[in-house]
Amino acid sequence: MNSSSRGTGWKPILEALAWLYRDVDDEAERLAALHRARLQCGRGCCSCCVDGLTVFEVEAENIRRHRRALLDEGTPHAEGACAFLDETGACRIYPQRPYVCRTQGLPLRWIDEAPGGDLIELRDICPLNDEGAPIESLPEAACWTIGPFEERLARLQARLDGGELRRIPLRSLFHAQDQSR
Ligand code: SF4
Ligand code: SF4
Repeated sequence: MNSSSRGTGWKPILEALAWLYRDVDDEAERLAALHRARLQCGRGCCSCCVDGLTVFEVEAENIRRHRRALLDEGTPHAEGACAFLDETGACRIYPQRPYVCRTQGLPLRWIDEAPGGDLIELRDICPLNDEGAPIESLPEAACWTIGPFEERLARLQARLDGGELRRIPLRSLFHAQDQSR
């Protein structure tokens, strides 16, 4: 998309992103309720908010459109943690936080290829949430499955740029030229 067609082309893509976030949040809430006893996640708990996170352009543009003043006038958090953390350890773009931030803390499962070529299931969880039943013993439906939402997000990004899946560092959104106009 060139800069002018981007202006009109963004609306349906950002609406689709909003739907994707709603679906992610619904499923994350279901799992959070299921694991309420073990989850330590809360405002100010932020060791998962690491520096160097990247997002697709579609998620970057969503942040730009909603948080222009913060990006133009705010100060990024010092390097070593996510640029969007504030001094209390809270997220300054919580409603627009990227997909990857919406599932932090949940038991995660994904399929990977073992060295011999077999497909294996791997699981992980934030160490702070590792108390309780071993996550290996949880049913699949009690874990967040990495893959389907990533594919949906990639399809959304592909609508924007025809397949190029370039990623943008979150930190670079501060004090950058607006590329969408
Ligand atoms: S965008 Fe917000 S939730 Fe995501 S890593 Fe940064 S501070 Fe944490
Ligand atoms: S995932 Fe871990 S570090 Fe992040 S909020 Fe939850 S308990 Fe805290």
